[in-house]
Amino acid sequence: MRPRGAAAKACRMSKSDIVVIGAGPVGALLALGLAQRGREVLLLESEPNILPSPRAMVYYWHVLEGLDRLGVLDDMDARGFRNKAFLQRVLSTGLQADVPLAPVAAVTGFPYNIHLGQHELVRIALEHLERLPNAHVEFGAKVTAVSDEGDHVVIEGESDSGRGQWRGRWTVGADGARSLVRRSLGLGFGGTTWPDRFVATNLRYPFGELGGLGNANMIFDPENGCVIARIDDTGLYRWTWSESAELPEEGVLDRLPGRLAALGFGDAPYEIDAFTPYRMHQRSADRMKHGRVLLIGDAAHATNPTGGLGLTSGMYDLLSLIEPLAGVITGETDESSLEEWASVRLETFRRHASPMASATKHMVYDETDVSKLEGLVRGSSDFTDPVATLGRLTGMTVLRGSLPRHHEELA
Ligand SMILES: Cc1cc2nc3c(=O)[nH]c(=O)nc-3n(C[C@H](O)[C@H](O)[C@H](O)COP(=O)(O)OP(=O)(O)OC[C@H]3O[C@@H](n4cnc5c(N)ncnc54)[C@H](O)[C@@H]3O)c2cc1C
Repeated sequence: MRPRGAAAKACRMSKSDIVVIGAGPVGALLALGLAQRGREVLLLESEPNILPSPRAMVYYWHVLEGLDRLGVLDDMDARGFRNKAFLQRVLSTGLQADVPLAPVAAVTGFPYNIHLGQHELVRIALEHLERLPNAHVEFGAKVTAVSDEGDHVVIEGESDSGRGQWRGRWTVGADGARSLVRRSLGLGFGGTTWPDRFVATNLRYPFGELGGLGNANMIFDPENGCVIARIDDTGLYRWTWSESAELPEEGVLDRLPGRLAALGFGDAPYEIDAFTPYRMHQRSADRMKHGRVLLIGDAAHATNPTGGLGLTSGMYDLLSLIEPLAGVITGETDESSLEEWASVRLETFRRHASPMASATKHMVYDETDVSKLEGLVRGSSDFTDPVATLGRLTGMTVLRGSLPRHHEELA
């Protein structure tokens, strides 16, 4: 909704219940959930349009119920596709596990993942927001400062029409890993940056026919480890590979053919649709609530993307924030529930999401002990004990965190 050129509903100087800064997937869906509960929501986005660059694209089965309650799942289903299995392979030996998701039908009505570029999810969220008269979205509105005035928050920014100022009773920084909101509050973002460079590459290449791959694949190898996921029915895949960040970034495209050939799938024409080289971090903000300003998604915590835990964490942040924040606005919920939300979400990232993502990255890209890799793959393909199988497949639901019921209504 309202990328530049469309009619934006200007809200400058008016006071919204909640100003959400950043129309990435987390900010756009949070704004939608709050607007659906009748709150006046203003969503500010610095870019003139939705950014289509390759980023997250897998929505796990365990977040789909929350997305369904937001009313966006049918559109996601129509524009993306359902994936019902994943594959793990040790590249050097060829040992592989084909793991169906069917057993999770015991605990969910959605026993599949959905593959869909995150920019498409943002588009869907904005389309839904557009139908709500109490939701306002401004593209091309770059926030430059945020100050908590005690009973409201003042947001300064720049847009096409010059400098702007907005006010919100509450403000949520959903403005990504380089969050201006976080920096404006003087909050640290401690942790580490990996020495690797990841290259998220969207390309057309017959991974299925030549490589025997499925829709979602982890290839374990210390030299050529990668994650390959099918994006759509046109033969487009996301291939995420890594290299030393000491190599010059401008040479990525020159090295790419060699890296593809090293997978040993065979010589076939390929077409690169888009690629993004980027650095990965394991970092989190000092806290996720600072007075009347909350941080959410990548603004609050960043992880390497192996295993797709970054956006999944952001999804659980937003799904568990909608009810308490909507309730605090009307006075039905005590502000302490937001303190609790902030501390549980941060703890869940630090204790679970970040270590899980680091361990998965290690196995895919760094582990040199083939027997360990084969042990992992054998474990994944051991379906003899249904309870153990279900336990493995549901392990990631720990990212929901342990919030009381009222937080979890959407999660
Ligand atoms: C190349 C790449 C590949 C990735 N692959 C995966 C993956 O496979 N799986 C996975 O789970 N995760 C992946 N991630 C991470 C995933 O994309 C993020 O976790 C996700 O985008 C977080 O969503 P968000 O809404 O919190 O932040 P973002 O998507 O970063 O959105 C933030 C928004 O805020 C806007 N903004 C920033 N500053 C301002 C400002 N000052 N004023 C107003 N607006 C502002 C930005 O323009 C942006 O639209 C990847 C990331 C990258 C970079």
